[in-house]
Amino acid sequence: MTQTITFPFDRRPEPGEAMPVAEGVRWVRMPMPLAGLDHINLWLVEDGDGWTVVDTGVKTDQIQELWENVFTREIGGKPVKRVICTHFHIDHTGMAGWITQRFPGIELWMTFGEWSFARMLWLEALPEVPEHVLEFYRRSGFGAEAIEQIKSSGYANMQKQSWEVPRAFRRMTEGDVIRIGQHDWKIMIGRGHSPEHACLYCPALNVLISGDQVLPRISPHIGLHANEPEGNPLGLYLNSLKQFNSLPSETLVLPAHNDPFVGVGARADQLAHHHAVRLGLLGAAMEDWTPMPDVLPVLFRRQLEGFQRIMASSEALAHLQYMVVDGTAQRRLDADGVYQFRRATTEIPPAEIGHE
Ligand SMILES: [Zn+2]
Repeated sequence: MTQTITFPFDRRPEPGEAMPVAEGVRWVRMPMPLAGLDHINLWLVEDGDGWTVVDTGVKTDQIQELWENVFTREIGGKPVKRVICTHFHIDHTGMAGWITQRFPGIELWMTFGEWSFARMLWLEALPEVPEHVLEFYRRSGFGAEAIEQIKSSGYANMQKQSWEVPRAFRRMTEGDVIRIGQHDWKIMIGRGHSPEHACLYCPALNVLISGDQVLPRISPHIGLHANEPEGNPLGLYLNSLKQFNSLPSETLVLPAHNDPFVGVGARADQLAHHHAVRLGLLGAAMEDWTPMPDVLPVLFRRQLEGFQRIMASSEALAHLQYMVVDGTAQRRLDADGVYQFRRATTEIPPAEIGHE
């Protein structure tokens, strides 16, 4: 029997509202000035005589004002006692530095992988796109004009959209149990979307704060990037997705985008299936040596421009790299220094089909 996915709430919080979704858990929805997505969900968990904030929003004056409204009007004047960020992306960490200043003495809790990556990117703040990034895109099949576009759009400078990532933090690791107010929350680590993404599961409330790891309506971005060109983010993602099948089917999932939902195992299965289908389509399209840009229409039906094209390319590269690592595709560098991919020609013995 396949469980279906349901959305138990018939409304969403207004800007600056903290809407109750479970005992001691509130939903805050912030606007998002990023391409493709117009909102992010953030969470407040009652923490004794105060609150724990989970994820924080991008650094903008509007979001700061909305947070101010939440702090002064929505949560009974009780202070924030701790900030947890699920992962390093600026829509999650951008306001963490400000909240930790707004409530002096409180700590930022993250995994080591996410905190150190956020801190590194914030400090890096390069004025120009570095050569290894341009080279990564050249090898991936971007032509001279596309490379010029990447150059002129500049490096993603984290300082523009994030307060300084706090210099000290509290570490969360796989399996840790964190007490927040009345309840224990277990840390589950997801990978592939970011290095060491923290999800928080509360068995007593049967609530999972899933961050970007499991989203109900969109597939989390899984991209291969210039900082780890031989990585296998899709392999990491699919492996870490399996753990969510062990949660109770009635678990209320609080995702960072879209709406809260029930049916985490079904959604994990759908996401795994979504990627399996795309890997199959890629294999079918690569009978001959093919550069990455030629497979973009196989994966994306819409016209891709600018930043969207870069995101789509990193997603396509993650799928191609997955196939290279598991042996279902081959990769070679052509005379122009561009990677070409081809479906592996080896036949799979019939006895092996159907096994993992
Ligand atoms: Zn993210």
